[in-house]
Amino acid sequence: MKKSVVIVGAGLGGLSAAIHCRLKGHDVVVLEQGRVGGKAGRISEGGYTLDPGPSIIILTEIYKKVFRDAGRNPDDYLQFERLNPITRVMFRGETIDIPDGYEAAQGLIDRVAPEDSAEFAVMWSKLCKIAPLVEKSVFAHPYEKPWQLADPSLIKFALPFDVRKTYKELVDGMFKSPLLRAFFYGFPSYGGQSYRSKAPGALLIPYFMLQDGVWYPKGGVAAIPEAFARLATELGVEIRTGAKVVGFEREGNRVSAAILDDGERIASEVFICNRDRVQTQSWLGRELPAKPSYSYFTVHMGVRRKFPELKHHTLFVPDDFEAGFEELYEERVFPSSPIVYLNNTSDTDSSVAPEGCSNLFAVVTSPANEDHLDWPALTAACVDRTLGVMARAGVAIDASEIEMQRVQTPVYFEQEHGNFRGSLYGADEKYRLFGMFPWSNQDSEFRNLLYVGGSVQPGAGLPMVTLSGKFVAEMV
Ligand SMILES: Cc1cc2nc3c(=O)[nH]c(=O)nc-3n(C[C@H](O)[C@H](O)[C@H](O)COP(=O)(O)OP(=O)(O)OC[C@H]3O[C@@H](n4cnc5c(N)ncnc54)[C@H](O)[C@@H]3O)c2cc1C
Repeated sequence: MKKSVVIVGAGLGGLSAAIHCRLKGHDVVVLEQGRVGGKAGRISEGGYTLDPGPSIIILTEIYKKVFRDAGRNPDDYLQFERLNPITRVMFRGETIDIPDGYEAAQGLIDRVAPEDSAEFAVMWSKLCKIAPLVEKSVFAHPYEKPWQLADPSLIKFALPFDVRKTYKELVDGMFKSPLLRAFFYGFPSYGGQSYRSKAPGALLIPYFMLQDGVWYPKGGVAAIPEAFARLATELGVEIRTGAKVVGFEREGNRVSAAILDDGERIASEVFICNRDRVQTQSWLGRELPAKPSYSYFTVHMGVRRKFPELKHHTLFVPDDFEAGFEELYEERVFPSSPIVYLNNTSDTDSSVAPEGCSNLFAVVTSPANEDHLDWPALTAACVDRTLGVMARAGVAIDASEIEMQRVQTPVYFEQEHGNFRGSLYGADEKYRLFGMFPWSNQDSEFRNLLYVGGSVQPGAGLPMVTLSGKFVAEMV
């Protein structure tokens, strides 16, 4: 039955929900406080164009399917370039390029970490078996009810890896070389978990990177939400920018209207919230959990020279990387010497920086805006530590070369994007549904209120929030 649907937020999750709801025949209005795309927007300053948030693009079939479901040719909306190497790693004085594809990666490990060669092959064959199960389970529908845990695909998924072990124990049990440990340790953080959680599913991230490729969308990452917004508009979705929602009007067990900051009241039969679900609890008169999950600290730089020593994606691993993980996960502080991911799209795309210049974007996994951290006071030291790790690996940037610089701390994500204490994955992992899943897409009290995006199932990251949009459209 055709319904009226109001979506709060035009991040990729909100746009995906809008398209999928429209494809089911509903009338859809999207209310966006700022620009379309949310965290996957675009920064343009002084001739430099940078991605403000996501930059590692995987699982492109998930985006393409949205266009196919709408009867369109995805190539008319988005073009992707496959990157090789998928990333460069700077580690203990060595420069290691991780090539595209399993066989090439196995060949690399045979050369640089022969002690881990056999285990890498074993892990790969297990991942090849479980990846299709994920597509039938976690990627296919949300898990809301305890009985759903008996899903055979989910159980078969868990079997090949010892689920009693933490992710770190799994990695340490497989790999001896510091290089492989350093490379693998970080993946649970992509979903807001630490390496001490039971998160074998995080191994699928490097699997998908090698198996399906790492891609660069023509026009930058913002091209993905822009293409979604174009499709949504063509299908008849109304997207209102500059529309800041400040709360919901409630009647019994239903939300009756979204209230804008100018007092306008927008009634609808169904509401889908792309704003962080945890933060939205306060609109419903509920307490917020005490502890947020993790966030990112980022430094964007327009630099007046080229860096032949960098690839599109480069990972700087400091010698004492284990100490950094302990500081992050146990002490919940910004590591003294963090692993730094550096994005340099000017390696692939000459249009994103003035001639002879580079657009650099450093990302460090960090604690969120927790009570014990004074981010404004910490910011300068965190920039120094980030650039210090790069300098010690041989990529020193002098302040006089930097033409533009922009720093995003968890406080920025809290204030600009409405994330709970600046965390990018909702509440801390101890609040997960059944101890393993992100929060549910359906409100338990207000039956016409659904949630889409990185704080709910299936999780954070652009492919996941796209699937989240499909989940909620099916729930409408
Ligand atoms: C630094 C960084 C690096 C990342 N790297 C990657 C990566 O490499 N690969 C990857 O796949 N993912 C990555 N991510 C994660 C990814 O960006 C997010 O999971 C995803 O963009 C979240 O999409 P979303 O639709 O849930 O939310 P958002 O993009 O946050 O969109 C929410 C929208 O709601 C709007 N909104 C909020 N409150 C209101 C309100 N009151 N009224 C109206 N509108 C409102 C916001 O303005 C925003 O547009 C990264 C994130 C960051 C920050």
